[in-house]
Formats: sequence, C-alpha cells, structure tokens
Amino acid sequence: MDLKLDQIYDRLYQSAFGLGIRILPGKGPQVVSGAHALNCINEILEKEGKLHPMIVTGPRIVKSDFFVNACKKLKEYSLFSDVRPDPDTITVEKIVAMYTQERCDCFVAIGGGSNMDAAKAASARIARPDRSLQEMGGTLKVRRKTPLFLAVPTTAGTGSECTVAAVITDAETHHKYSINDFVLCPDYAILDPVLTVSLPPFLTATTGMDALTHAVEAYLNRPYHRRETPGQCREAVRAIFRYLPEAFKTPDNLKARQEMLFASFKAGLAFTTACVGNVHAAAHTIGGLYHVPHGLANAVLLPIVLEDYGKKVERPLADLARFAHIAAGTDSECAAVFIQKIRDMNRTFGIPDHIEKISEDDLDQMASWAVQEANPLYPVPVIYDREHFKRILRRAGQLS
Ligand code: NAD
Repeated sequence: MDLKLDQIYDRLYQSAFGLGIRILPGKGPQVVSGAHALNCINEILEKEGKLHPMIVTGPRIVKSDFFVNACKKLKEYSLFSDVRPDPDTITVEKIVAMYTQERCDCFVAIGGGSNMDAAKAASARIARPDRSLQEMGGTLKVRRKTPLFLAVPTTAGTGSECTVAAVITDAETHHKYSINDFVLCPDYAILDPVLTVSLPPFLTATTGMDALTHAVEAYLNRPYHRRETPGQCREAVRAIFRYLPEAFKTPDNLKARQEMLFASFKAGLAFTTACVGNVHAAAHTIGGLYHVPHGLANAVLLPIVLEDYGKKVERPLADLARFAHIAAGTDSECAAVFIQKIRDMNRTFGIPDHIEKISEDDLDQMASWAVQEANPLYPVPVIYDREHFKRILRRAGQLS
C-alpha cells in the first residue's frame, strides 16, 4: 500500500514537471563542428571579450598534440590538468580556487564527461559561493549566471557539452550525484572529430554505448518529451547503430567520428530535458562505488533493464528498431531484436555481460542511492523501489 502511494506521488510529480519542461524555452549551446574546429577557440574568446580562460582537462589530454597546439595559440590562460575519471568534490574545489586566485573570466573544458563536468560543477560554485556542491545536488539549485563556458568533448559520449548536468562524486562517501540546472548548459560546443581519433577502441565503444543509453532512456520518458525530443532520440539511435561499429573498427574514420559526436550531442539534447532513467540511476552507484567506467556500467545494465520493463516498452523499442533499420515484424519481435542487437554490439566490443565488482554487501546502499536519484524525477516506464533496484543490480553482478 505504501509503495502504491509513493508511486502515485511520483507520477503526479512527473506530470507537473513534464508540463514545466514543455513550456520552458529550449536553448542549447552554439555549435562549431568539423575537423580542426578546435582552432576556433581564439575567435570565440575574442568575440566574447574574454581575456583569461581557465582550461580544464585531464593528464592524458594535456599531453596530446591537438591540446598542445591549441594552447600555443592562446595569449593568456590558466591550466588545471588533473581531472580524473569520476571527478570528486575535492577536484572541483581545487578548480574553483585556481579560477578565483588567477582571476579567470571563463571556462574552456576539454575532455570526456569527467573533465567537462568537473568544470561545470566548478562554474556552479563560482556562481554560488554561498552553496556547497552537496547543497546544489538535485534540480534547479544554482539559479545564478555562471561564467561563459566552452565545452570540447573528446569522447562521444556523455553529451555533457549540451546538458544541464554536472555529475560528481562525493570524495568521502563515494556517492555520485548530479547538479542539474539550466545555467550549467555550456554556451559553446566544439564538435571536432579529430579529437576523438586517439580514443582507444574499448573506450570508443563504452562511451558510444553511454550515448545510446541516453537516447533510449530519453525516448522512453514520454511525459517529459518536447516536440523535438523523439526525433533527436531516433536519429541518435540510428546513427549509433550505424557508426559506432565503424568508429570502433577504424579509429581514424573521421566521418564515423563526426557522426558519433553529432549522435551523442543529439542524445544529450534529448535527455537534458527528458532525463535518463533506471539504467543511469543504477549505473551511477556502480561508478561511484567501484569506479567502473560510466559507459561500461550503462552498456551492461541497458539490456537487463529493457528486458525487465517487458511489454511496457515493446512499442517504443520497436519504433526505434524500425527507424534504425535493424528489425521488421511485430512490436514484440522488433523490441526483442532491439535488445538482442545491444547485446550483440556489447559482445563485438568486448563489453562483458556483467560487472564482477558488484557485491551483495553493497546492495542496500546502492539501491537507496538509486531510488533517491530516480524517484520522483525520472518518468520511467516502470518505477523501481529499493527491492526492484536490488534485483536489477544482482542480475548485473550475476549474484543470483
Ligand atoms: P571520461 O571523461 O571519464 O574519460 C575516460 C577516459 O578516457 C579517461 O582516462 C580520459 O583520459 C580518456 N580519454 C578521453 N578522451 C580521450 C581521447 N580523445 N583520447 C584518449 N583518451 C581519452 O569518460 P566519459 O565517458 O566521457 O565521461 C564519464 C563521466 O561523465 C562520468 O562521470 C559520467 O557520470 C559523466 N556523465 C555526465 C553527463 C552529463 O550530462 N554531464 C552525462 C553522462 C555522463
């Protein structure tokens, strides 16, 4: 009975939130794309009247040729190059301190979701020095203008270059959570396929499966769809089925790399208003606790959760499968093929079908974090309670 009341509350919340989402003005970043689009940073900074950017990146990207060359063209800048995967709150505070001390006037974040999110979270703290990161966790708790932000993804990807989210991990508790606010949407997204060529095949695959998960989960969250959302999801799914295997096989295929960046961007635009779902809520707990790469956790969980949704998602999955030209037949047949194709792609990419590190001892904590993230915000086809999340996590860990 309790559970039923919870679910009624969640659905009412989602109806009200969905109304708001549909009437809010949608504003994504300005996009610059194409090979060597990175060279336009100077021009953008000049146009915006910015003199001292803070560049935020990680230890691998900082050594890459494209990064070194881009920095040579900048007159003045500060550099923070120590963002690690799953950035934590300590890292974010270090970025804030450097930005303030060195009197920077904007951000240029170059890297995967981790680098972009660390900088986005720092921009939230700069806009709101009175609020801790933890206090800004959740939705619409920043609500102040953030510094100008240029996002340059080197994975395809998280879509962070066009989303309102910054995902960070509490350095003490390992709780991975998201700060969501429209002010965190970057002002510019530079989609340069040359930057993703150095991404090793396995990372290409897992980050690509992350983008697929965004598109699928956003597509299933109908109560939050804006007019443009279904098209963005369908196009992203179709492109990922087509170009991710190509980018995996031929890393220097710039056409496939560019299409993957566009797909990840479209999936990002879709989920930034339509939200993600139970796959992500569970994946964040796995990433936070065990440092399993985010895309890998999503790739393992996606077919498990879709299968668990069963009949409730047959029609939308069939729509996606037909649009991507990967299945024909009845809804139920197409949906089954769609899920099987995800498993097939995972196998081709060497992505395992389960995550070894999941431990029975952690399930209670993980399930309560997942419930906290998903409910009432995500308008998922099936609302999961703690026990349901535990069942899914057990399956993902092959614990039973
Ligand atoms: P990542 O940023 O954690 O990077 C993974 C690894 O890839 C790192 O070691 C990095 O150095 C390396 N790498 C990145 N680009 C490379 C390149 N071009 N060549 C060689 N190596 C490269 O990975 P990610 O999947 O992009 O980001 C994951 C993070 O983003 C997670 O914390 C996740 O929760 C978050 N995320 C955020 C959003 C959002 O909207 N803000 C959405 C989804 C995920």
